[in-house]
Amino acid sequence: MTLTPHIDELACAAHGDCALIAPDVFAVDDIAVVIGRGSDEQVLAAARACPAGAIIVTDDANGEEVYPG
Ligand code: SF4
Repeated sequence: MTLTPHIDELACAAHGDCALIAPDVFAVDDIAVVIGRGSDEQVLAAARACPAGAIIVTDDANGEEVYPG
């Protein structure tokens, strides 16, 4: 599976947890932005750790939402 994260810009509160967990995937300034790709495990771990629930993860194969689902 290849997973892609998306940031809910209205929900993101710039906590920064995502960039700590997956620094190659997320950068945080005023809000988080996706800057690259990472392993599926990294992307999911960052999404689960986001205190604001602002990271949505989709499966590249079919576009379906994997997290939060
Ligand atoms: S962890 Fe969530 S709230 Fe914090 S910067 Fe990342 S996406 Fe935004």
